[in-house]
Amino acid sequence: MRPLTKPLEISKIENDVNLASAIDIMTSLNEPVGILDLSSKKTVWLHELIKYNYEMLQNKRLSHNNRINLSKFQTQLEWIYKNPSKKRKTNFIDDIRNAYVNNGILCPYCGVSPCRTLDHYYNKALLPQFAFLPENLIPCCGDCNKDKGAKKSFGAWRRIINPYYDDYQSLLQNEPLLIVIFKENPYPSVDMKFIVTANNNLPYIIKKHINFHLRTIKIEKLHQEMISNSFWRNAKQLRKYKELLDKGSITINTHRDLVDSFISINDNLTYDWEYIIRFSLYNFRTNNWIYQSNLIKLR
Ligand SMILES: [Zn+2]
Repeated sequence: MRPLTKPLEISKIENDVNLASAIDIMTSLNEPVGILDLSSKKTVWLHELIKYNYEMLQNKRLSHNNRINLSKFQTQLEWIYKNPSKKRKTNFIDDIRNAYVNNGILCPYCGVSPCRTLDHYYNKALLPQFAFLPENLIPCCGDCNKDKGAKKSFGAWRRIINPYYDDYQSLLQNEPLLIVIFKENPYPSVDMKFIVTANNNLPYIIKKHINFHLRTIKIEKLHQEMISNSFWRNAKQLRKYKELLDKGSITINTHRDLVDSFISINDNLTYDWEYIIRFSLYNFRTNNWIYQSNLIKLR
């Protein structure tokens, strides 16, 4: 759910894609065996490819109903995806992948590792007709592509967040999408215990969607070190402001101004932990223990 940075060359690659002509060519060739049988379905197939973007823009997901069933051609369509060629006008598959890989763009699912592969948002076994549709190909890291595996469904929220179609940041003004709840930890062997969860001010179904993504991609585990480090740094700073207030060195208004500007520094990224943590520590009562805690690392 990290916003996807599109390399400059992507729009040119996407503009040059001509699915109608690609389908014409591939269904007129003898390789892979059996692909010729698809030529009778060319029109419905193309219609399905064109409909994808409209349906996703409107509903954020595809409907289960009214899909053409091309499962008979799964092997052929997977072969076409795995063997991009100029002859078939499918070289855009390689070009899209390379553009993301060569520019070191970070994986939009986890936000940790660089993009290495293309993930089929709708599985190529489930819906092989979208095996090479650019809108269905999401650049991501190898781990996310592997982990995600079969966890794809038509459900409203039991699905990974789609960086092309799910924009939730616009639902919240001046608040992060995620919050972190920290637990004062009695065991010195563990640096910090915490829970990352969707911001409570989001609509119910979107919270469920975000939380499903966080769990599936194992965001807490992947970002553990960053979250922990950011916690100690920012909790300490907030305590300092509070101390100044308690000692009477600053007024309550000055304190509010200091804290407001401190928590408003924001990179506009979903995984900007500094911003998320400053916000969570200050705004969530469950995190207020930091002001009373005797933990050495907070002093
Ligand atoms: Zn990833």
